Amino acid sequence: MNADEILEIKELLSTPKKIVIIPHKNPDGDAIGSTLGLSLYLKGLGHDSTVITPNDYPSFLKWIPGEETILKYENETDASQKLIEEADIIFTLDFNHFSRTGDMEAFLEKQATTFIMIDHHQQPDDYATYTYSDTSMSSTCQMVYHFIEQLGDTEKISPEIATCIYVGIMTDTGSFRFRSTTSTTHKVIAALIDKGADNTAIHERIYDANTYSRLQLQGVALKNLKVLPEYKTAYITLSQKELDDHQFKKGDTEGFVNMGLSLEGIIFAVIFIENKGENIIKISLRSKGAFSVNQFSRNHFEGGGHHNAAGGKSNLSMEETVEKFINILPSYKTELCD
Ligand code: 5GP
Ligand code: MN
Repeated sequence: MNADEILEIKELLSTPKKIVIIPHKNPDGDAIGSTLGLSLYLKGLGHDSTVITPNDYPSFLKWIPGEETILKYENETDASQKLIEEADIIFTLDFNHFSRTGDMEAFLEKQATTFIMIDHHQQPDDYATYTYSDTSMSSTCQMVYHFIEQLGDTEKISPEIATCIYVGIMTDTGSFRFRSTTSTTHKVIAALIDKGADNTAIHERIYDANTYSRLQLQGVALKNLKVLPEYKTAYITLSQKELDDHQFKKGDTEGFVNMGLSLEGIIFAVIFIENKGENIIKISLRSKGAFSVNQFSRNHFEGGGHHNAAGGKSNLSMEETVEKFINILPSYKTELCD
């Protein structure tokens, strides 16, 4: 964000405002951490700020400071719409296009208020009055830190805000291992620990929150893992029945796709998860190095995301989706194997 824009936003925030903050549908650690961290900061400045998520999120995120104040548009539509209509400023975090908010899309498109986008996904849309987009950033949480930093307010980062921001940097970097993790990321993390984020406790609350049935489901996913060495590719399927048999709850399959990527020699990993409710196969894609899963998903599975981590969907059956996927691979042989 350039200096003029920061000055304008500072001016905007110099008197109490009604603010709504919205992340993408099926919010993850970065989406929840960034929206809550920003919201707590804005509340500290004296604004009336509310986080509205399109829908529910995994229980391993249901402890993050301020989480109990989140409004879920899916269940609390009237109250959410009222707040959105009355808002002086709407922040949209961790997504690049209104379509990523699911059922909120049409309603958001109608709003003529000031929008501020903070996001690290590729190809951002141009709906916002102020767009802070940086695809090189590890996470939207890191961007929220830099946003507060640019406003000259790092001393206003409380232990609660530091905790929120730490969560999203940790989850979006795969615990500080992905390419997007820079020395600046580590400096931000160090500052957050100094400001009161309890790093060990945060890791435990996010990653050591397994249920027995979730671990068993992970076993099923591993059994279903298929490897296509000629394309350096591995994929996993999970049917609705397999999910149902293991009391599947939102978030239970988080991270499973990375198991394929942990195989030696594999640079492209995919998981196909049946969702009978939405009548789709939800797809998560991950890669290492130059192969762009963002492009692959945009081209073939109505999705997108980042260079090495993307999502998408298919309206075909599981069998047909996997067949389609396998049939596409030969046209990427050189990209995958060179
Ligand atoms: P995940 O596989 O963890 O759901 O998502 C990986 C990345 O891709 C995230 O940054 C997420 O925001 C993005 N993503 C997931 N699903 C979709 C989708 O359907 N469309 C687009 N454009 N991005 C997605
Ligand atoms: Mn993110």
